[in-house]
Amino acid sequence: MALTLFYTGLLIFTKVFSVSSDVLLFSMGTQATNSTVIRTDEGLVVIDTNESPAAAEEILKYTKRKWINKSVKYVINTHHHFDHVQGNQVFPKAKIVAHKNCPQQMIAAADPKNKVIYTEPKNSSSIPPPPPAKTLYTDTPGYKLTLPNIFVEDEYNFNLGEKSFTIYYFGASHTDNDLLIVIPDEGLLFVGDLFYKKLLPHFSESYKPDVNRWKSIVSKIVERFPSLHTVISGHGEPFTLELFRKQFEYLISLFDETKNMKELGFTDKEILDSLSLERRFGDLQYLDVKSSSGGSLHKGNIKSVLELIK
Ligand SMILES: [Zn+2]
Repeated sequence: MALTLFYTGLLIFTKVFSVSSDVLLFSMGTQATNSTVIRTDEGLVVIDTNESPAAAEEILKYTKRKWINKSVKYVINTHHHFDHVQGNQVFPKAKIVAHKNCPQQMIAAADPKNKVIYTEPKNSSSIPPPPPAKTLYTDTPGYKLTLPNIFVEDEYNFNLGEKSFTIYYFGASHTDNDLLIVIPDEGLLFVGDLFYKKLLPHFSESYKPDVNRWKSIVSKIVERFPSLHTVISGHGEPFTLELFRKQFEYLISLFDETKNMKELGFTDKEILDSLSLERRFGDLQYLDVKSSSGGSLHKGNIKSVLELIK
């Protein structure tokens, strides 16, 4: 995977990965958020428009230089968080696809009462924790609320040129509007902020996680698209489908085993001890466990499950 770095006055620096001859991955902005541009015979698709109109303009400028005469036909927002949607206005002619709960969350986030301003992460190489539900990067210059106009309820398919795109609602997890996007012709699965290469997966208990839906959607995707090999998340580098499946299995066993132990009468402390990462999920220890966030994410996951099954 080729990597280019370029500097802009506005954005400090941007990394661009050539995932394939038709796929460019941009990592940019204060949250190092990923945006991906996919080229087809009939135009471009942008997955996540990053944190500001300025960031989206940079993506557009770079892409137009590389792929002359290609215009953006579709935008897909993986979920409503500011660093994935605040460049939408830069693509006024595109169809903007998101889950049906996304617009109401974007509107709530744009309400000044809910204003939350983010500061830059201290260590720019670490992945920032997910922003809370109602978040607007209120000081973003020139930001204009630009809502999606095609809504996914369960599944949505479209073709552009020679490529097909399949989008599923994952079920409440990181937010209540998380999408998974499959591009079978490229072997790519997009997972938004649900799974990362170097971080344990975690979820927000404030949106009642729909674990049964998670299971059925992931097994449907894996069966229906045997050509998938690479996963692109909302932050960080792409990773293998194998690592995604391992992380997914971790989450599911955490739910199942915590529930079983609770039903058998174990105390919360006993559950936390016996399902420790070291003892039960040793092969995932490398996922940022040495930093403070890995271990606490794991404990947080167990506590969230305990809270949910109370
Ligand atoms: Zn997010």
